[in-house]
Amino acid sequence: MGAFSTFLDILFPPRCVFCRKFLRSSRQMICDDCLHTLPFTTDGGKKNGEFFSVCIAPLYYDGDVRESLHRFKFKGATGYSKAYGKLLADCIKEHLSGRYDLISWVPLSRNRLNERGYDQSMLLALSTALELDDVAVSTLEKPLEAEKQSLMGSAEKRRANISGAYRASDPVLINGKRILLIDDIVTTGSTLSECAKTLLTAGASEILCAAVARTRD
Ligand SMILES: [Zn+2]
Repeated sequence: MGAFSTFLDILFPPRCVFCRKFLRSSRQMICDDCLHTLPFTTDGGKKNGEFFSVCIAPLYYDGDVRESLHRFKFKGATGYSKAYGKLLADCIKEHLSGRYDLISWVPLSRNRLNERGYDQSMLLALSTALELDDVAVSTLEKPLEAEKQSLMGSAEKRRANISGAYRASDPVLINGKRILLIDDIVTTGSTLSECAKTLLTAGASEILCAAVARTRD
């Protein structure tokens, strides 16, 4: 930290990643109001899935959380990964400590990555792992871009649409491992299920998941 970061804070005043209110220091990342009013989940916001044991999320995907994740995902606000990573790491420490061997993420397809320039879930996994004194490794690839998820209707359609979309990138690495998969938002859990199925088929022993935010059921 020190003089240079103070100088940067004056030139580019840091803002709360959720409500965008100005902050006194970039070290804070989330304002005091948001820390009290954000829609935090209780008991890790646990959600079960078809091929993963549990998915936890520190926040509900509502209001300012939704807006913030939108800026992170589509508007280049990649710096948010630090604040999100801290929230994820705290949630993981509390609910999944000692239950996984590897940290990984749900990857973007190659063409989507080229379009956006960054893989937001990879950034999340890297910053979360850093907070946990761990590393995140790539375990999945998404070779083909399935039809745009948001244009799809029912959960069944979404599932059919992403079936077979992922491929395990390193079966030797994941063999017999309990893998913690990081993603930004969990809605139906169909993407996580598909990734989990792919990893289990390739030899992983268990899949656990963590997302920044989840929808309310
Ligand atoms: Zn705020």
